[in-house]
Formats: sequence, C-alpha cells, structure tokens
Amino acid sequence: MKIHFRKIANADEPLQLHETVDVSRVVKGRKDILAVAPLSVDLKALPAGADCVNVVGKLSGEVDMLCSRCLTEVKRPMNVPFAETFKWLKQPVLPDDEDEELIYIKDESVDLIPYVEENFVLHLPDSVLCKAECLGLCQKCGQNLNEGTCSCDNTVIDPRFAGLKDFFK
Ligand SMILES: [Zn+2]
Ligand SMILES: [Zn+2]
Repeated sequence: MKIHFRKIANADEPLQLHETVDVSRVVKGRKDILAVAPLSVDLKALPAGADCVNVVGKLSGEVDMLCSRCLTEVKRPMNVPFAETFKWLKQPVLPDDEDEELIYIKDESVDLIPYVEENFVLHLPDSVLCKAECLGLCQKCGQNLNEGTCSCDNTVIDPRFAGLKDFFK
C-alpha cells in the first residue's frame, strides 16, 4: 500500500486506496484478544503543499475480546479515523524547523501499512465489558454470576480480588 510523492503531486485527482489488511500479527501480544477481523482500509491521498501528501480516511474492522470481568467473548466493532501528513524530505537530514505534525520520509515513496497498523493498535480498547453491569465471576467457585448465583458466601469481597485485571498482566 504505497504512495509516491511525485505521482500524487502530479495527479489530477486524489488517489483512492482500498485494501484489506491482515492485522492479526499486531495483536499477538494481547491475551484478551481472541481474534481480529481483516481491517478494511479506505484512504485518500492528496497533495498538501510542497512535497507533502495528506492521507485521510478510515479503518474499519472488528475484534473479539474477553470481557474483563466474566471472560465471555465480546465482539467489538472498530472504526478508526486516519489522518496523517507525510513530507518527502529528499535529503536524509531533518529541517531545523521540524514540524511535529508531519511524518518525514526520506524516500520518494512510503508504505502506509505500518502507519495503518499503528493507528489501529492505538485505538484498540484496553479492556471491554460484555455489558456495563456485568456481574463477573464468583471469586471462590468461578461461577459466571450473570448466568446465575452460586452458593458461596460472597457477602464480603476483598476489594483487592474484586477485579480480574491482574489476569491480563
Ligand atoms: Zn462480562
Ligand atoms: Zn461461588
């Protein structure tokens, strides 16, 4: 998924980019993510001043995650906006007036995939709940309390064990 600075500068119309990207690799480290659908990438690249190209659009997909309280599977749609400006540097030295909004590229073309992946990862939820009022699991017997009560005495729950947060560490 490459864009070429010179081609875009000389084009009459914005370059449309539509691609499906396999992002399973970038979620490998996440134990709470069971699966990730191929990411549908819809971007538009257009010239934005001297040696600059604007790339805007959206990334859409879906992740299967585990509810952080009861560990049931939750499908979460992902709609991630994408907006980056790339500047062709032409020489391998950053200018003195470096603009933090820009991504400087020393080659004449740039592969967008790493930036797509990065934006996707940044928008992944840290955790999900199957529902806001999820009751979680019994700390003693593991019963899913959304599905029914158990016979354990849970009247006093040590707050240190109230969450399953540590499970994911
Ligand atoms: Zn839950
Ligand atoms: Zn129980």
